[in-house]
Amino acid sequence: MSQDGSDLDRLVAYRDTIAAVASIQTALWRGIDNADCFERLMEAQGRLMAVAGPGYRISFADLVRRLRHGGQGAFAGLMPEWADADVLGQLDGLDLDVEDVPVSDTGVGFDFLLEAENVLRIARKVEDTSPDGFTLAGWEREFSQETVFTAIKGRFYAHHRRNLIENPAVPCEELADLNLPETALGFYQEIGQDCRFQGWWWPCPVCQWPMRVAVGRTRLGRAAPGQVWCQYPFHTETGALYEFAADGKPGSAPMLHPVRPNEPVPASADARLWTGASATVPDALPVEGYKALVRSVWRCTTIPGLSELRLFTALSEELADCPDLAAELWRDGDRLDLNVARGQDREVLFGADFKDYTHLRWLLEKLHRDEGDRGGALWLVVPDHRAEQAEKLDPVCRQYGMQAALTATEYLARVRRFAKGESGE
Ligand SMILES: [Zn+2]
Repeated sequence: MSQDGSDLDRLVAYRDTIAAVASIQTALWRGIDNADCFERLMEAQGRLMAVAGPGYRISFADLVRRLRHGGQGAFAGLMPEWADADVLGQLDGLDLDVEDVPVSDTGVGFDFLLEAENVLRIARKVEDTSPDGFTLAGWEREFSQETVFTAIKGRFYAHHRRNLIENPAVPCEELADLNLPETALGFYQEIGQDCRFQGWWWPCPVCQWPMRVAVGRTRLGRAAPGQVWCQYPFHTETGALYEFAADGKPGSAPMLHPVRPNEPVPASADARLWTGASATVPDALPVEGYKALVRSVWRCTTIPGLSELRLFTALSEELADCPDLAAELWRDGDRLDLNVARGQDREVLFGADFKDYTHLRWLLEKLHRDEGDRGGALWLVVPDHRAEQAEKLDPVCRQYGMQAALTATEYLARVRRFAKGESGE
């Protein structure tokens, strides 16, 4: 083969094609915005054309279209016939013996194959499971979530996961103290541009992640008051919404003022489980010297994690008088988020999956797709502020043999009743 060429040419062609896709993966992994992704794509396009040789054209639009539909055969015919780029559509059927490649190339080639396979697998998953189909944002979300969970897997899983929840933003010099695996550390980046004001940023009083900042102008051209809010709507609704004077002395940290009083803790809810904003007004911190988790990891790990940790603490308190029962958090990695275990052999009594989805439709589709919970949880628990979701989820959970969908407070109450029975009260 080769252009007429050797197997090595063929491997290089495969590798470069896959490397082009892997470079987009890297861009996404770093949480780079769309503009940068497109730059990567253009780079990839250049690389592919270099492999294909003079006179062969790969159009940018065609490449994007194929990436968006990265399913079986989507890359067929992208490259000249001799380069057989259909490999991207059928990685598992790859007719290529990696062992035959010179040693220096083996590791690299193999990694590229694995990485590219991972990119495409996630792309297909997003395409199949998201109501909106494939989007770069959906891809990034899914990719960071999987990567971060893979990175923290193992003996210290719970410790690492707790670290990501409790430290979504940290001073750079303390980052190493978290002892997170290298890959997970990669999800800490500089404070986002849209969270800065003249070199300052503010942590949300609930989740500690950088709040969004907006500064406008009045009709007279003066600076209007700046606004600061948490990007998790429940935190904003309960009080994490502030204003500050945007025309203050340069160099001095602007002071925040709450826009409205904090939402009181609802009387019906168990106060221990309240994850709304407190009355503490955050102080400004310098942008220099801090790093924060990328948005998708904050949203998918930190935010639900705050509720999971509260619920775990409350469960442990409820079970204090029952020596035979123990509260469990993230049993077997992320198979069960919460549980009450009985006895030496840790019999599962209240295996629960905790879900904090903004859009009920996605969660319903997930339940149908998995025919209940994939980890075998019998209880689906949602945050208290999503009580209306629990009502709609409950019949679907029962349809798949689960016990119930409940709010965190209701789940805790069930456990409390059970524990009272067990302790003979
Ligand atoms: Zn927040």
